[in-house]
Formats: sequence, C-alpha cells, structure tokens
Amino acid sequence: MSEEIVPPVRPPRRILMGPGPSDISPRVLAAMAAPTVGHLDPYFLKIMDELQQMLRQVFRTENRLTLAISGTGSDGMEACVFNLIEPGDKMLVCVNGVFGGRMAEVGRRAGAEVVTIEKPFGEIFTTTEVEAALKEHQPKVVGIVHAETSTGALQPLHHIAKLVHKYDALILADMVTSLGGLPVEIDEWGIDAAYSGTQKCLSCPPGLAPVTFSPRSVEVMDKRKEPVRSWYVDLSLIRNYWGGNRAYHHTAPINMNYGLHEALRNVLEEGLEARFERHQLNHKALKAGLSAIGIEYAVEEENSLPMLNAVKIPEGIDDKKVRAQLLNQFGIEIGAGLGPMAGKTWRIGLMGEASRESNVLLFLATLEQCLPKQGYELTPGASIAAANKVYAG
Ligand SMILES: *Cc1c(COP(=O)(O)O)cnc(C)c1O
Repeated sequence: MSEEIVPPVRPPRRILMGPGPSDISPRVLAAMAAPTVGHLDPYFLKIMDELQQMLRQVFRTENRLTLAISGTGSDGMEACVFNLIEPGDKMLVCVNGVFGGRMAEVGRRAGAEVVTIEKPFGEIFTTTEVEAALKEHQPKVVGIVHAETSTGALQPLHHIAKLVHKYDALILADMVTSLGGLPVEIDEWGIDAAYSGTQKCLSCPPGLAPVTFSPRSVEVMDKRKEPVRSWYVDLSLIRNYWGGNRAYHHTAPINMNYGLHEALRNVLEEGLEARFERHQLNHKALKAGLSAIGIEYAVEEENSLPMLNAVKIPEGIDDKKVRAQLLNQFGIEIGAGLGPMAGKTWRIGLMGEASRESNVLLFLATLEQCLPKQGYELTPGASIAAANKVYAG
C-alpha cells in the first residue's frame, strides 16, 4: 500500500486587510524561526523579562502583573474573567457587539451572575448608562470592549473607569484590537485588568494574549476563597513562572514568544505616538476614498476605529462575490460583517503592518474594478484621487 505524502505548506501571498490576523513583518517571522530553547533556559527567562517590560510600555502601565498568556485573545479574556470572578459574583458586561457578548458568556461559564446592558451594534455606551447599571446592580466587575472589532466602534474608557471605581467595582477592558493602534493608557485611565491579542495591531501571528492587572485586581485575586476554576489560566500559578520561583506550569510556546518580542520591538522602535498617527492617517485616506465613490461607514466618525473600517455594502452588491474577487484576483482579504451586520457590512482592517499607504491605494483601485462588474456606478479614479488628497496633506 503506497501512501502519498501531502505537499508542504506553501501559503498564498495575501494582503491581510480584515479584522485580524494582520500582515506580519518579515522580522517577526524570522524571529519565530530562531532555534527553540527550553522554557526554563536562562536565555528564554531573559526574553520573558524583556517581554514583560515591553508589554508594560505598550500598555502604558507600571503593573507588575503584566505578561503574555499562552493562547489567543479569547484566552486572555478567559484568564481575566476566571481570575477576577468567583462563582456567585456579580459581573456587569456592556454588550454592543460580538466580543461584549462573548465576555458575558465567559462570565457565565466562570460562574458569575452576569447582567448585561446592551446597545445596538455600532453604538457606544455613555457614562450615564453605565452609572445607572452600576447603581442598580452593584457588580464586582464591569467588562467592556475598548475597540469592538465586530462593529468598528471605539468606546472611550477614561470616564467610565473613574465611575466604576466610585461604585467600588473593578473595570476589565478588552483591548485586543486597540493595543498598538490606538492610545491605551492603563494607569492613567485606571483600568484594573485588560487583555489583548497578538494578531491585530501588534502584527504578530495569533497565539499569545498580553494581559495586565492593577495592584487592586491582584489584591482581589489574592483574597479568593476558592481556586480559579481553570487550571490553565490560573494566574496564581502562571505568575510563579513569569516571575517568582520560575516554577514550571506549562511549556511556554517559545517561538511565539520570540515573535511577540520582535513585534513589540517593532512597535517601540516606531514609537507609540507615530504608530497611532499612522493608523489615523490611513483611516482618513481610506475613508475619503470610499466616500468619493459613495460608500458609507456603519459607525459615526467620532466613534470610528482607525484600524477597523466597518462600511455599508452598497445596495444590490453581492457581498461574497466582491470578497471572493478581492481574494482570488488580488490576494486581498477583507472581513465580512458579524452578527446582525452579516451581509450588510464589510470590515476593512488597517492594522499594524497592514496600515500603510500602498494598501489603501491598492484596495481602492481594486474595489473600483470589482464594483462596476456588478453594475455599480462610480467615477473611475475618484477614490484614489480623494485618498491621495489626504496624503498630500
Ligand atoms: C479578535 C478579538 C477577540 C478574540 O481574539 P482571538 O485571538 O480571536 O481569540 C476578542 N476581542 C476583540 C475585540 C477582538 O477583536
């Protein structure tokens, strides 16, 4: 019996302009191909220390308990929720998109008594709305999403964190999409716990979840009456590996950590401010280009995420056909709508490495070719001219 060996992995070249993963810098991929060492090798321990230090810089925090969970963004979410919540605790989750909904579900699975406040997809919460819920429910933890990748909406957190503290609760923020692309100020805003992911604006392959915990949330974890109901994300154990006595907990994904190390070096080398400005500029150019050919955003400009552009699919245009043409003919990936926005919006990511002038111009040019195929009328070149006007200042 002869068995054929399948061919080796040879992925097509893509331009990743969806909701993540984003384009990865060759520097990060090269770092990941470096020789694997042991998870307790002094060299790797040094890499871990440097990772923690760089993560504190991008989270803008002094929090000692800052590290990368071995898992994707959702695992970061579970780590935060499971460690802060004990069965029976009240958790308030603000749901205005898929990821808020996911956090509520994780809360329920952690045994919390979850209450939610909800807003239509694309809208954000006001401090008044959050305060009313705080008053009524007196939760222990408030979960909220900073950058809702499912809708393209940005939730300001500054005032909300202060309010949450006034009611003696902890604020847990989902910063999966914002970290590295938008200002994140853990200490200044007073965020008690936050999680992120590597494959959005940090432009590292998916696989790790940066997390950070304020001294207040560490105190809450230290006073737990019962062990965390997940052994794998129990931070009282993971902490000893990242600091403390370096006790073995699980085998760290060594090469993923190399990748994140290089990705964070990239971010800090560019500088946070410069990086945020770049994300804003490319968002503005894309928006000007799309507006010039009659494509509207699904979110108000003042609440728009620069790294995730949720736009309305024009009447009569076949969502799937356009995305398939972009992918097959031009190698460009954009995202479909999620939840109630499925079939109605496209999610165009300009995250990390993918947030660049050449991607914006290429995408507009290709879209100008795809849309008229389905009878959409536009002035040829209008989107590119409008984007170029933004770049010209
Ligand atoms: C992508 C994303 C997640 C989930 O992260 P995974 O890496 O897919 O597990 C959670 N929250 C937000 C806001 C995201 O964009």
